[in-house]
Amino acid sequence: MAEERRDQRGVRDARDGAQDVGESWGRSARPEEAEAWEALVATARRTVSDGLVVGTSGNVSVRVGDTVLVTPSGVPYDRLTPDDVTGVDLTGAQVLGALVPTSELPMHLAVYRATDAGAVVHTHAVHATAVSTLVPELPLIHYMAAALGGPVRVAPYATYGTAELAENMLQALTDRTACLLQNHGTIAYGTTLDQAYDRTAQLEWMSHLWLKASAVPGLSPTLLSEGQVAEVGERLRGYGQRG
Ligand code: 13P
Ligand code: ZN
Repeated sequence: MAEERRDQRGVRDARDGAQDVGESWGRSARPEEAEAWEALVATARRTVSDGLVVGTSGNVSVRVGDTVLVTPSGVPYDRLTPDDVTGVDLTGAQVLGALVPTSELPMHLAVYRATDAGAVVHTHAVHATAVSTLVPELPLIHYMAAALGGPVRVAPYATYGTAELAENMLQALTDRTACLLQNHGTIAYGTTLDQAYDRTAQLEWMSHLWLKASAVPGLSPTLLSEGQVAEVGERLRGYGQRG
């Protein structure tokens, strides 16, 4: 990654060769951060292999104490190595790594400041993004909306990477763990990377389902009531295996 590190930070052109290897702006990663980085990279790669992301769109973060590890901006996930660990504090100051952090830091940090999130996943998943251009809220086509806290809202459009987009997203996330970003994509958070990823995948699946059901000529899908979905929310607390 040394070549790209220099490309992305013009000011670093003077640095060269061996000095670049393993070099970092801040301290070195602690063992738990190195482990979390591996999991973050695996999750980021999964967004691509599962078709939720094309190229370098989207980004992933995970919180380790007061440090937030984030995907670097514009770097294909298959090129990331353990040496590329990139981390910021909750104010956005870089504490780990030399690569430029994701341009969507304002969204990721806003989620960590406002919630107990342990991980955040942002994608440009195609069906979810299509829905974001059609309605202000994903219609209640399936009870799995309950897994995201209720009807999924669409945050009004703002330019990527801006504080305005982060603010619109926070509003749309009120009492929810995911929302759509108008003409842009999805964002979901969870306690773990797996949970944030699963919520993203459920949101994409529900969006696909609604688009399919709404596309049948002459018919329109039945929808659930907020009460029906709330009832499922209660029930899901006991879903799955004991313990
Ligand atoms: P980054 O490559 O900076 O993470 O940006 C991708 C993106 O999805 C912006 O909205
Ligand atoms: Zn994006």
